[in-house]
Amino acid sequence: MMEGLLSEIYEKVKVGERISREEGIKLFHSNDLLTIAEIANLVRQRLNGNNVYYIINLHINYTNVCQNKCSFCAYSRDEGANGAFTLTIDQIMEKAAGCRQMGVREIHIVGGLNPKLPFEYYLEMLKRLHLAFPEICLQAFTAVEIYHIAQTANLGIEEVLTQLKEVGLSSIPGGGAEVFSSRVRNQICPKKIDGRTWLKVMETAHNLRIKSNATMLYGHIETIEERVDHLLALRELQDKTKGFKSFIPLPYHPTNTELGGEGTTGYEDLKTLAISRILLDNFAHIKAFWIMLGIKLAQISLSFGVDDLDGTVFEEKIAHSAGAQTPQALTVQQIKRLIIETGRLPVERDTLYNLY
Ligand code: SF4
Repeated sequence: MMEGLLSEIYEKVKVGERISREEGIKLFHSNDLLTIAEIANLVRQRLNGNNVYYIINLHINYTNVCQNKCSFCAYSRDEGANGAFTLTIDQIMEKAAGCRQMGVREIHIVGGLNPKLPFEYYLEMLKRLHLAFPEICLQAFTAVEIYHIAQTANLGIEEVLTQLKEVGLSSIPGGGAEVFSSRVRNQICPKKIDGRTWLKVMETAHNLRIKSNATMLYGHIETIEERVDHLLALRELQDKTKGFKSFIPLPYHPTNTELGGEGTTGYEDLKTLAISRILLDNFAHIKAFWIMLGIKLAQISLSFGVDDLDGTVFEEKIAHSAGAQTPQALTVQQIKRLIIETGRLPVERDTLYNLY
């Protein structure tokens, strides 16, 4: 038997009506997880039918030197510290060398904010990768990195994005969004661009016809209301630009971080994925990043509104620095098996959701 409020939300979502902030908050306070899943699946089914998308992709983390020192981050290092690294462009090319043989359709590139790297480094990286692999999408540099590159180069965001696009940038990853609330950011990432600037970078990219993803790092110090407000800010920008492809909720991993505390639970992860699916009615895709969720939970999330399992993710470093216990890559066979077992259809895609 459905709770009164949830049955009202169910009826609304069934006829394609948008739910409000208050309803989003109430969903988070409900413990009727299976009904929340049922509502999320109405949206998922409407947008994606039986399809579950995956991509063969390679992650390249070009540097872990970062000036920001976010307290939830286990990845960044000071320049010269033990374990600090910055790849040369030749080293990046070496990492990408086997791409074609592996059938890679996307190279996903993110790194720290290394003040020593000039704009030319980023341009050359994309230019050489694009020349070597013109058929592979380059999804590179979060909004936080784009802003940092612009500051270092003393250029505007639009100019930086235009030049990066000219040398091969296909799309922007969704990282660095964390939770937009300034209360939260002041505590966990005071040096990072604020939520409004993150959204502005994305809006500028979308206006230049550069698509992007969006994320939310949850399960640290944020309140339910702050989570919902984050989702609504994304929904509002998406109404305006339609430039977001997918939304990826990222559970906080405390291992090796200054912030510490406890990690999220499976219950909270599934609930957050499902409510994201319900609130973000204008996002085509909700993605479970199996690297951070764990493979088994990512598979179960397909019954909680998720329609995308990301990909093979060869070489991921950032989540593993924070204690992610998952392997560093899955094979296509493994991903397909996860999907087929749930009765859904595995569909290979590229960065821009062209299907294969
Ligand atoms: S989360 Fe990103 S910006 Fe923050 S310290 Fe880590 S690498 Fe730097």
